[in-house]
Amino acid sequence: MIRQITATACDFLSTTSAIYFYPEKPWLVIAHLRNLITQLSRGRYKAVHPLARTLPPGPRPLSLPAQEDTEREREFAAVASAEAIHTSSLLGAEDADDETFLMSDTLSSSAGALDKPRVWLQKKCQLTAELLQQLRGIVNEGDPKTKYTEFVHIGQGGFGTVYKAINPATGDVVALKKMPLRKRSRKELVVNEIQVMKENRHPNIVNYIDSYLVNEDLWLVMEYVDGGTLTSVLVQVFMEERMIAAISRECLKALDFLHSKNVIHRDVKSDNILLGMDGSVKLTDFGLCAQLTPERSTRCTVLGTPYWVAPEILKRKEYNTQVDIWALGIVAIEMLEGEPPYFKESPVQAQRLIARNRYPPLKMPSKMSVLFHAFLHSCLDTDPSTRWTARELLQHPFLRTAVSLSVLPDMICIARKICQAMEALHASSASLEERKE
Ligand code: ATP
Repeated sequence: MIRQITATACDFLSTTSAIYFYPEKPWLVIAHLRNLITQLSRGRYKAVHPLARTLPPGPRPLSLPAQEDTEREREFAAVASAEAIHTSSLLGAEDADDETFLMSDTLSSSAGALDKPRVWLQKKCQLTAELLQQLRGIVNEGDPKTKYTEFVHIGQGGFGTVYKAINPATGDVVALKKMPLRKRSRKELVVNEIQVMKENRHPNIVNYIDSYLVNEDLWLVMEYVDGGTLTSVLVQVFMEERMIAAISRECLKALDFLHSKNVIHRDVKSDNILLGMDGSVKLTDFGLCAQLTPERSTRCTVLGTPYWVAPEILKRKEYNTQVDIWALGIVAIEMLEGEPPYFKESPVQAQRLIARNRYPPLKMPSKMSVLFHAFLHSCLDTDPSTRWTARELLQHPFLRTAVSLSVLPDMICIARKICQAMEALHASSASLEERKE
């Protein structure tokens, strides 16, 4: 009852604020009123933002049968957790406990009273041979160094080194990601990365060109995106809401496409969104993605990047494509505030707070428009079944405020200039200090 009264009051306040803030947009006010009447007549209030209920219901995720992790995925989870201790890109040190739990659980269920470490090792070797064979079936023959020229190092990720190069036959500029398989524990995810990129081509996804296997180094050749990562822009320039709406819309197009193919990206964050000098916005890095199937429509492996990871993953629940929507909500906050919520906290503490709190704290909520609040609430609903889907979000009124993407290149140039100026400042202050000494 109290919840209903509170929700009614919220709706009422939201409607009056819509009248106040948007007198020139009567559709918004009408939508609010219609929503209020519908909800009152149904007597059904959920912990969703009022605006979230103004749109016609779109496709919801299937109701998914509970399913245990397969033995193999448990192993990956264990290894992923082990890697997390060394890299900041996966879940934090807390998962070290999970590693022991998951490993011993896997082995005890499969190997009974056998010598556990030896069984683990044997299984890993088999897996590697099997995987190399699988990879050879996917990749092209030959060496990328003979096909491409003018290699320039452009980036270093947790799983590989990225180069820019040219295909002299066509003149095309490409990006090549070299991933040493020997060092990487979750090799299965590499197969996923290539297969998903190969099978899913879309204007908002960094498209696959080629792949090669050279001495246990996997080379992934993809289209080169020349504007850098979204992170490199949002840390330098203040982004207007209308720009946030434009970039969110492009990311949602990519997610809607992937989700319609039952692919979960599992690592949506600004570092994995590339910007083009032609105004394009492209999702990249499919290294953690998962392909859902009718037989296996949810996952429960704890994977992702702290700060962006959805609460249901941290709570060890079954999850589906909706985890990407949560992460996109966090990206929208990044664009607004320059960093994700809880970024000042350690990854472990951030995970605790994400799992405990209903909605992430915002630095200046009063400065945000009602529509942007509504959009964030629609993405950051802790209940994945009521969280909006990518397709629903593409109809969200906030996205109608988007500016043209033609302003994106200017923004990238400004961010670059600020970055260069900052670097020059750092360099000169460092040399001044040296001289003083
Ligand atoms: P992570 O630790 O995030 O998993 P990773 O090993 O998967 O990293 P990427 O994030 O894919 O590596 O790439 C590292 C960097 O290389 C990116 O931040 C970006 O600057 C650059 N980069 C990657 N792909 C491209 C591309 N297609 N075009 C241009 N630059 C790219």
